[in-house]
Amino acid sequence: MERIKVGPVVDILGDEMTRIIWNGIKEKLIFPFLDIDLHVYDLGIQNRDFTNDQVTIDCAEALLKYNVGVKCATITPDEKRVKELNLKEMWTSPNCTIRNILAGTVFREAIMCKNIPRFVSCWSKPIIIGHHAYADQYSATDLIVSGPGKLELVFTGTTGEEVRYTVHDYKAAGIALGMFNTDASIINFAHSSFQYALERNYPLFLSTKNTILKQYDGRFKDIFQEIYESEYKKKFKAKGISYKHYLIDDMVAYVMQSEGGFVWACKHYDGDVQSDYVGQGYGSLGLMTSILVSGDGKTVQAEAAHGTVTRHFPMHQKGLETSTNSVASIFAWTRGLQHRAKLDNNHKLFKFTQALETVCVETIESGFMTKDLAMCIKGACNIKRSDYMGTFEFIDKIAENLKLKLML
Ligand code: NAP
Ligand code: MG
Repeated sequence: MERIKVGPVVDILGDEMTRIIWNGIKEKLIFPFLDIDLHVYDLGIQNRDFTNDQVTIDCAEALLKYNVGVKCATITPDEKRVKELNLKEMWTSPNCTIRNILAGTVFREAIMCKNIPRFVSCWSKPIIIGHHAYADQYSATDLIVSGPGKLELVFTGTTGEEVRYTVHDYKAAGIALGMFNTDASIINFAHSSFQYALERNYPLFLSTKNTILKQYDGRFKDIFQEIYESEYKKKFKAKGISYKHYLIDDMVAYVMQSEGGFVWACKHYDGDVQSDYVGQGYGSLGLMTSILVSGDGKTVQAEAAHGTVTRHFPMHQKGLETSTNSVASIFAWTRGLQHRAKLDNNHKLFKFTQALETVCVETIESGFMTKDLAMCIKGACNIKRSDYMGTFEFIDKIAENLKLKLML
């Protein structure tokens, strides 16, 4: 079989168990079928430390240049890791660095398999959470107020004019918070969300608490509405999809009884909380994908939502059998390559990515899976070795089924 020619793709290497899986996926499921113009960046913790994290910045710039990236999970070091790995510094999360350079929004989506039970049984289609990961509570100034006194908010313009607001007259000790966001970031968030909804052919909802935060959350609502009217309404109509703003309370109530099948744009804190809650509702971390879309919608980086699966790695290093789910990492490749296919009008590539995704789902649905999924079906106590496959046994099974699918 002739390999399909594929344009430039940034291949981002990571850490621990997922780094091992990443190699397996490329060797068995990607390279035999695709001839890719690959640009490799090693974001493994040792190389980040060796390059003083310059490799992460170079990688983000390569993403902006080539517009498509696939990322393996990476270690975000904490104090314990700094000691354990003898690092020069506690380097910031690569995801954070890349997201800031791309001014991007993260969209998380569950891969649906009929035989994997969902905690929320009515969710038959994915709920894609768009997470505005900029400012709000995460870059806020919070403080303890020690005793009676007045708290004020002062804005000083660059021309020197001053505006003062009284936040609270304290009779006794308390707490306070100063929080911000910027129009530029909200505009990027809106464009990424509209573009991603169009790409996936799903309606888009934005949730805010604009009844309480009339100015703050009202600004999110207004910016989204203006951009929708001026740039996206016609495109949405043409696809038969819609955009709507919801009060967060109404949205949560709607989500619980819906069948899924929409993109939900969440403000920073909501996105953080709701993505974990929706993720749990679908069942397994091993089936959760994550896409970073740049503010202009041109660049896409795809990855698994889970981490490096640290707990499985020592077993692998000792030569013991592991059963780590590779499906979300495989979908990092398919989702990234789908964006490449779209940019280049590469139909052969698009069909290949669809075949690989279908094979993953069909393989699981026909009963071949890793331990995490078998546990979802049978429960942790009832599981036997014959109910699941090893890490590499599963990747080999996917490769075998993919060959069969492509020959049809
Ligand atoms: P994790 O790697 O997601 O793993 C947590 C647990 O979830 C695992 O121990 C495993 O449970 C289960 N799990 C997750 N993915 C699985 C898979 N594909 N197949 C089977 N089971 C899976 O989270 P973590 O242990 O908290 O974090 C490990 C490292 O990853 C940290 O250094 C963290 O900073 C990093 N991280 C990176 C990213 C990223 O690059 N995007 C995201 C999150 C975390 P059992 O042990 O019970 O089998
Ligand atoms: Mg969270």
